[in-house]
Amino acid sequence: MKKKYHKTVRKCPMCGSNDLYFESGGIAGYVYHCNNCDYIGAFVVEEEIEWEEDVNEKHHRRFGRKK
Ligand SMILES: [Zn+2]
Repeated sequence: MKKKYHKTVRKCPMCGSNDLYFESGGIAGYVYHCNNCDYIGAFVVEEEIEWEEDVNEKHHRRFGRKK
């Protein structure tokens, strides 16, 4: 069974990848770090998408929210 909902995704402004994680960036405060192209910065592209998730599966994908 699939469930649809809206979700905001954050994309790398350099390569368009959504493989970003959030990290503390020292003087810049918090910054995003792209796993794909190594972009680091506070600016990311936010986009609202319609997200479909298979609710039978227990994997909840989250954008790496490390402390
Ligand atoms: Zn990137």
